[in-house]
Amino acid sequence: MPSGPTKGRSRALLQPVRSSLARKYTIFTALLLAWVTFIFFAYDMDRQNINLGKAALLGIAVLMVAGAISRYTNHLMARPLTNLQKGISGVREGRLETIRVSHTGDEIEYLGDSLNAMIEALQASRSEVREHQQLLEQRIRQRTEALEEATQKAFSVSRAKSEFLANISHELRTPMSGVLGMIDIVLDSQLGADQRENLETAKGCANTLLALLNDILDLSKIEAGKMMLERIPYDVRAVAQDCVKSLAPRCRQKGIAIRAEVDPSIPAQLLGDPLRVRQILTNLLSNAVKFTERGGVVLRAGARESTNPNLLLCFEVADTGTGIPKDKQSAIFEEFTQADGSISRKYGGTGLGLAITRRLVEMHSGSIRVESEPGRGSTFFVELYAELPAATAASNQPTLTQAALRKPRAAAKRYRILVAEDNLVNQKVVSTVLTKHGYGVQLAGDGRQALQHLEESRFDLVLMDVQMPGLDGIQATRHIRGNPKYADLPVIAMTAHAMNGDRERCLAAGMNGYLSKPVSPAHLLDVIASHLRVWENTDPSPAPPDLPNPIDSQLARRILEDDNRLISGMASLFIQLAPERMQKLNAAAVRMDATALRSLAQKMAHAAERIAAMEVVRCSHQLVEISSSGNFQSIQDQILKLEHEITRLDSHVRSRVEQSRDLALPPSSVRAVPPPHVPTAKA
Ligand code: ADP
Repeated sequence: MPSGPTKGRSRALLQPVRSSLARKYTIFTALLLAWVTFIFFAYDMDRQNINLGKAALLGIAVLMVAGAISRYTNHLMARPLTNLQKGISGVREGRLETIRVSHTGDEIEYLGDSLNAMIEALQASRSEVREHQQLLEQRIRQRTEALEEATQKAFSVSRAKSEFLANISHELRTPMSGVLGMIDIVLDSQLGADQRENLETAKGCANTLLALLNDILDLSKIEAGKMMLERIPYDVRAVAQDCVKSLAPRCRQKGIAIRAEVDPSIPAQLLGDPLRVRQILTNLLSNAVKFTERGGVVLRAGARESTNPNLLLCFEVADTGTGIPKDKQSAIFEEFTQADGSISRKYGGTGLGLAITRRLVEMHSGSIRVESEPGRGSTFFVELYAELPAATAASNQPTLTQAALRKPRAAAKRYRILVAEDNLVNQKVVSTVLTKHGYGVQLAGDGRQALQHLEESRFDLVLMDVQMPGLDGIQATRHIRGNPKYADLPVIAMTAHAMNGDRERCLAAGMNGYLSKPVSPAHLLDVIASHLRVWENTDPSPAPPDLPNPIDSQLARRILEDDNRLISGMASLFIQLAPERMQKLNAAAVRMDATALRSLAQKMAHAAERIAAMEVVRCSHQLVEISSSGNFQSIQDQILKLEHEITRLDSHVRSRVEQSRDLALPPSSVRAVPPPHVPTAKA
C-alpha cells in the first residue's frame, strides 16, 4: 500500500494536463513580442510618426512568430513528454511496453531512452520471475505427488502392520492357548511331586511369554489407535486394594512391606475401564516391588472434583528402592528404555511397562511423572479422569465385582454346546474342560459344519472361533442370526484376535459375547454359565429352571448306603467345618500361595464329594483350576462363589431337617430353595 505522499503524487499523475508547456511558451512568446511591438509603437508615437501599415505588418509578424514558436515547442516538447507520461502510466498499470522516443537529441530523448531501458529491464525480470514461479509450481506439484505417494505407502504399511499384528497375535495365541490349556489339564490329573513342579514351572514360563506377548500387542494396539477404553461401572477402591493384595506374597518373600492408603471418600462407583486402571497400578506397583530390597511400597489413592461429570483420580506409588538418576527420569517412559542396564539386567524386564502405562494414562486424558533420588526411592504420580455415573444409574447398577458375583450358574449337565473350532489342540482343550464339567459337546471344524450340526440337533449355546477355513465364524453367525429359529441361541466368539474392533465385529455379526484366547477354563465356564442363564430367561416355553439342588440326594444315598441319618450328620459336619476351611482358603488367596490354595480347594472338593454336594464340588474344582493363575481377582471371585454355594447348602440342609428330619426325600419335592444370598464384595 503506498504511503501518504506517494499516494498524493500518483493521484496528480492520473489528472489530465490542464495547461501544456507548449501553450505556456506560446503565451510567453506572444506577450514578449507584444511588448516589443508596443515599445516600437510607443517610440513611433513619441516621435509622432505613426505608420499604421508598418504597425499592422508588425502585428501580423508577431502573431506568425508566436504561432511558429507554439508549433515548434509542441513538436519538440509536448509530444515526447506525453509519450513519456503514457509510458510511465503503462508501467504503473503493469503494461510493460516501450514508448516511441522522439529523436530530439536533448534531455527529453535521454529520459525516453532511460524509461525504455527501465521497461526492458522490468520485462526481463518479470519473465525471470515467471520462470521461477513456474519452476516452483512444478516442484511443489512434484513434491505433493511424492508426499501423497509416501502417505499412501505409510497407510498401507500401517494397515499391513495391523494385519500382521492380528495374524501374529492369532498365530501366537492359538498355540499358547493350547499349551496353557494342556498344562492345566495335565496338572489336574494325578502327578508326582516332581512332575507337578516341572509342569508348574512350564506354566509359569508360558504365562510370562504370554504377558510379554500381551505387552507388545498392547503397545502396538495403542500405536495403531486400536485400543479403546471400556466404560463400565467399577469400584476403584477395590481395584487399588486388589492390586496391592496381589503383590503382597512377593513382598513377603522379599521381606518388604506393602500397603494401600485409599481415601474412603472416593465414590464407590465410577464409570471407566477397570482393567486398564488395574494395569496402570499393577505396572507401577510391580516395578516398585521389583526395585525395592529394603523398606516398602505404598499405594495412595485419592480423588479431586473436576469438571462434571468427571472426577480426577490421583494415585501415588512410592517405594524405598534403588531410585532413578535425574537424567534418566524422562527416558524411562519411552519404549524399551531402562534406567540402568546392569540393575535392569539383574531384575529383568523389557522396558515396555512404563511406556504402556504412560500411553494408558494419556488415553484417560491424564498425566504421569516421577520424583526419585538414587538410593532413596521413587514416587510415581498418576492423575487420570474417571466418569461419575448419573445418580440413578449409580444406585441401580451393580459394580463389576457384584455383577460377577450375581452371575447365575448353569446346571452344566443339562446343556449341549456346539464348539466350532478348526484348531485340533483348541478343540481338545475346550471339549476336555466342558465335558469335565458335565456339558455335552459337539465339535465342528468350520462354520458350514457348525450350521449342519445346528440343523440336525438342538444346542443350548455355540462357541464360535472367528478365523476358520471356508465359512468363517462371522459369516456362520450371520447365517444363524438370519434364521428366526435361532434368534435366542447364544453365540460366543472365541478368537485369538486380540485387536480392538474384533469384539465390535463379532457383536455386529450378532454374537452375544466374546472370549479372547487363550481362554482360562474358569472364565470359559463363567461366560457359558452366564449366557445359558440369559438363554433360559428369554425362552418362555420351558419351565423356569431352579438352581441345581445343592445335594444330589440319589447320589448321596448311594454313597452313604441309604442311611439318611448318616447323610444328615455328614452334611451338618461339613457345614460346621466349612468356616474354618474357608478361612484357610481366604488366607492362602491373600498370600497368593498357589500350592496351599490348590490343596485346600482339593480337600474341600473331596469333602463335598462325600455328601454329594455337587455344586460345592464344582466350585472347588474351578478354584483348583485357577489357583496358580496368579489372577487374584478371579481367585477371590471364585472363593466368594464357593462361599455362596456353601451358604446355599447350609440353608438347604436346615430346611430339609426342619421339614422332615430326613434328607433323603424324592428329588421332585426338594424345590423350596430360597433365592441365593449375594455376599457383598470385599474391598
Ligand atoms: P521394565 O520391564 O524394564 O521394568 P519399565 O518400563 O516398567 O520396564 O521400566 C523402565 C525402567 O525404569 C526400569 O528398567 C527401571 O530402570 C526404571 N524404573 C521403573 N520403575 C522404577 C522404580 N520404582 N524404581 C527404580 N527404577 C524404576
